[in-house]
This record gives sequence, structure tokens and C-alpha cells, in this order.
Amino acid sequence: MTQTDPRRRIPRTDALLADPVLAAAVDRHGADAVKAAVRVAQEQARSGEIEPGQVADAARAALPSRSTSLRPLLNATGVVVHTNVGRAPLSAAAVEAVVAASGYVDVEFDVATGARARRGRGTLAALRDAVPAAGDALVVNNGAAALVLATTALAAGREVLVSRGEMVEIGDGFRLPDLIASTGARLREVGTTNRTTVDDYAAALGPQTGCVLKVHPSNFRVEGFTSAAPVEQLARLAGPDGAPVPIVVDIGSGLLRRDPLLPDEPDAASTLAAGATIVTASGDKLLGGPQAGLVLGDATTVERLRRHPLARALRVDKLTLAALEATLRGPASPVTAYLHADADALRARTERLAESVGREVVPVEGRVGGGGAPGVPLPGWAVVLPEACAERLRTGDPGVVARIERGRCLVDLRCVPSESDGEVERAVRAALAVGG
Ligand SMILES: *Cc1c(COP(=O)(O)O)cnc(C)c1O
Repeated sequence: MTQTDPRRRIPRTDALLADPVLAAAVDRHGADAVKAAVRVAQEQARSGEIEPGQVADAARAALPSRSTSLRPLLNATGVVVHTNVGRAPLSAAAVEAVVAASGYVDVEFDVATGARARRGRGTLAALRDAVPAAGDALVVNNGAAALVLATTALAAGREVLVSRGEMVEIGDGFRLPDLIASTGARLREVGTTNRTTVDDYAAALGPQTGCVLKVHPSNFRVEGFTSAAPVEQLARLAGPDGAPVPIVVDIGSGLLRRDPLLPDEPDAASTLAAGATIVTASGDKLLGGPQAGLVLGDATTVERLRRHPLARALRVDKLTLAALEATLRGPASPVTAYLHADADALRARTERLAESVGREVVPVEGRVGGGGAPGVPLPGWAVVLPEACAERLRTGDPGVVARIERGRCLVDLRCVPSESDGEVERAVRAALAVGG
């Protein structure tokens, strides 16, 4: 190396770390990540790839712009509860609650007495207020966990009676028979695939019965010569000793009250009113909250589940409790808003986008998605783009996920917050500019 060798001018690590921007980056990314980025940039300068004066900028550019590898996406598919992109987006109120709960909070603490308090009591109160028919409530990690806990606590080593018409796979590896087998309960199938009556259940009932389980077949419909035993009739069944048999109903979607838009979707309030002992449901489908599993119903039965050792392994964290409470008490969730999107407003937004990018609007059908209400179409509109745009939209920043249908890329604004219309427009322009 000579005196004039530019490599002598490569800034030293301590000088670089004193650079205000890189010093701030240490707070955000940690010292190790920043030092690693600095070393890579210094190496680039040594090999002549960059000028010594560019080392700080190169190190800065090498740091990730976000603190998580999860990429925020705009959902332009028209599918409201879309499993691949995270099911339910949280409301602003729920996001605020998550931030508020992220430090130390009184999740299990009574500030008045300084003593331990019931974990998540505010969230449980919100659930009981939302479903007055429920004597008590419990929150676990997801809908599958709620069902595992109910089956284990009520029927481990005994039988669970399930209709053959409800031996379902919900998707994503959730197969009811496998799940029940994993709890140590024995599955006893009753009825046939298309028809099951209350007498089928009555005939199978015996001293071995732990509970009767009804599962909402949320992602398909059986049509034609079909019948299922209504909860009202099952609730009148009694065991050999004359005692009532617990009726567990997995309603799936987390709808708490009837929604006229979804006439075939069971809700917690009506199912409990019909006589179910407990209902189980997801928190992040139609309820539109965080991933969670809800158990609602008879207080004694809920307490039995709460006291089971498995409950501790399935309990939710403070962030989930906070987001769920805010979803229950706060304004309509994004899921509810997108399901009930005003048709005229949606059309006007779609036409505005189409006009600004010079493309056509076509009528489309959105979907509830996420294993819910399979037969319910959500009439809407979409801007039609060439199919090749779909990939460019997905991989842009922000990524926009559109629907590909019959060789076309359809941009449906139903599940895009209206304040993000401008971002979608810019993304579409960019995708069209690269080839059209
Ligand atoms: C979605 C669903 C589940 C599973 O719930 P997760 O929250 O995904 O664990 C169970 N049962 C039914 C009927 C469902 O629709």
C-alpha cells in the first residue's frame, strides 16, 4: 500500500459508529447488526467496489428498513379473511391496545391491593358483555386449541360423539378425527355423511360418553338429501344416569351474534340460546380480532376447562388479550367493514382507480374466505390488468396482492383501506409501466 492508495482512506469502524445516522441505527438494529454492516461496506471499499467516501452510506443501506421480515401487504384479492396474508387485519383500536400492552401492564395484578388478580379479566368481561348468554369465557391460542382443551377436559379416556357428516378437514392440516385422537378421547361416529338425527346420537350415548361435539363444516356445503340434528334437540339428551351430556359446538368463525349477510353461519349467542353447553370459535376470522380461541358458555364447564393442566399450555399473551378486548369493545373491525362494504362507495373507488390508470372495471364476486360462509358471494368490482402485473404488484413496496382469474389480474379494493387507494394507484402505474 502506498501513501496515495485510496484504501488508506477507508473510514475506521469507531469513526463510522460515531456517524449520527449509524449511531441511531444501533438503537434500532443493535450494535452487532450495525458493526456487521460496517464490516461488509469496508470490505467493499477495500476491494474497490465502492469509494472510501461511500462506506457509511453503503453500511446504512445494507441495514434492513424494517424490524421484522414480515412484509406489510395490501389485500386486493377481495377475499376478506385470507389465511395466507394473516386472516384478520386488526382495527386501529386493537393496534393501539397492543402497543399499550407491550410494556409492563396489570394483566395479572390489582393495583388497588397490590395483589395478584385474575389474568385477562377485562377481556373476559368484554366477552361476557358481548355474549350475555355465556355464563363465563376463556381465551386460548386459537380455535383448534379451544377444541383440544374442551375435548381433553370433558372426554379424555372416554368417547366424543360426532356426526359422520362433520368429520371435516377445515384446511391447513386441521382434521377433526386426528385432532380428537390426539387428546386421548375416543371418537365415536354417529349417523351418515349426509344425514344424522338426534336418535343416532341417543343410540350411541352411554356411560362412556364424555361429550357430544358438533362442528360447523365451515368450508364446504353438502346439498340435497341432508339433515343434521339441531342443537335444540341434542340439548335434551341425557346420559344413562339421567344427567345432561355436555354439548360442545365448534362454530368456527367467531361470529358472536347473528349477521343477516351470513344466514347460514352459526353465531355464539344463538347457539348457546339453543342449548349448547359451550361453544368454541376463532378470534381472527369473522370476529376480526387477533389469533385466539374462544370458549363461551356454562360457567361450571368453562371452569373445568380453565382448571385443566393443559389450559396453562394454551394460554394467550397480554398482547392478544389487549387486542381482543379492543376488538370487542371498539368500533367495527376491518373484517366487518369489508364484509359490509357499501356497494356504491366501492364502485366509485374502483372507477376512480380504473380511470386514472386507463383500464376497465368488471363486476366480480369477493369471498368471505378463511373457511367461512362458503356459499356467500360478495358482489363487487375490480380493475382488470394484464396477468403479468400480478407478480410486479406482489413484489413491489408495498406489496399488493391481486387475484388472478382466467388469465387476468383483478384488483379488488374491498379489503383495501380507502386511505391506501393512492398507494394502490401508484403500484398499478408502476406495474403497468414495466411492460403493460
Ligand atoms: C377455522 C376453524 C377451526 C380452527 O380454528 P383456528 O383458529 O384456525 O385454530 C376449527 N373449527 C372450525 C369449524 C373452523 O372453521
